[in-house]
Amino acid sequence: MTAAFAERIPSLEPSKLAMVPFVSVDHMMKLINAIGPANVLSEMASYVEADFLRWEAFDKTPRVASHSREGVIELMPTSDGETYGFKYVNGHPANMARGFQTVTAFGVLARVDNGYPVLLSEMTILTALRTAATSALVAKYLAPKGSKTMAMIGNGAQCEFQALAFKQVVGIDTVRLYDIDPRATAKAVENLSETGLKVIACQSSQEAVDGAQIITTCTADKQYATILTDNMVGSGVHINAIGGDCPGKTELHKDILLRSDIFVEYPPQTRIEGEIQQLSEDHEVTEIWKVMTGKAEGRTSDSQITLFDSVGFATEDFSALRYIRDQLDRTGYFIELDMLADPDDPRDLFGMMKRADQ
Ligand code: NAD
Repeated sequence: MTAAFAERIPSLEPSKLAMVPFVSVDHMMKLINAIGPANVLSEMASYVEADFLRWEAFDKTPRVASHSREGVIELMPTSDGETYGFKYVNGHPANMARGFQTVTAFGVLARVDNGYPVLLSEMTILTALRTAATSALVAKYLAPKGSKTMAMIGNGAQCEFQALAFKQVVGIDTVRLYDIDPRATAKAVENLSETGLKVIACQSSQEAVDGAQIITTCTADKQYATILTDNMVGSGVHINAIGGDCPGKTELHKDILLRSDIFVEYPPQTRIEGEIQQLSEDHEVTEIWKVMTGKAEGRTSDSQITLFDSVGFATEDFSALRYIRDQLDRTGYFIELDMLADPDDPRDLFGMMKRADQ
């Protein structure tokens, strides 16, 4: 170890760093239930907000995507200079019909100073939480003041997380559900029955958006779909468009985009993956961190249509992982994994292996 390196990381104790805390799916569910899903969503929204407020501290790159006919597998890395994080995530719209999740994920946090991982976690449930926390946080800045009703089109895996986050962070009291598959809506009605939300099952998207100040689209289809047409969107609403998050996969008719003020996470990624892939490269969009830091305006009038063209960005996963790491001691829901080969003499990797059978 060089003197400069040792000085930078005086507290490094190799033997303690070799074991990596691991949060399994079972741990994650217990951790969330111990804190309470609604509390987790509002606390996580604060972590996501804190990281948007220090946006310029992060290394940023569009996610690294490997596309196939069936879907996409992506890596989402970022770093704030002290901690590095990445998420592995897939998106396979045909999975649900085959009995698999559309989206599954896991993620890692690591120390930047020595590169050792400090957390390995499931992120399928965590992605639903962080997406909902982010959507609701953005709506806190952009939705009409006093919004009480949200239309939720697409009642799959993300649906209940979204509804609950909007109740906690924005203060909605009513959710109007629609899905082309009535079984998905019935599932969501049942799951949301004890949340205090008024839940209304609708027969069409048109019926769902009736009287809603916020419209969330959260469907999965690997094509340019039209979940909302222009005539369904009245003036003054906030649209939270989540499902269009891949090249060739969008949810909104282009005319809606042309009537809206569009807010995005990270333009170089959203131009490839978001609703705005339907628009020219120079169409004006506002980065949401600028609204949060007061560098740009959000909603400026009652008649304005605001659109959050959400694709999900690496810093949000970083925030979610940071939140989970901070809950480990609070809840104790993790195990330590022997994941890093860490010989007493750093150069004697071969010797350590040789001695294993002795
Ligand atoms: P899911 O497959 O569990 O649910 C999708 C639902 O949409 C299904 O119930 C399906 O019946 C319904 N649906 C499909 N076409 C419809 C239509 N025309 N009208 C109404 N309902 C329709 O998927 P999920 O995990 O809930 O994810 C939904 C979408 O959100 C996916 O496209 C996913 O990639 C995306 N997503 C985005 C983010 C983000 O950060 N922006 C995060 C997670 C997921």
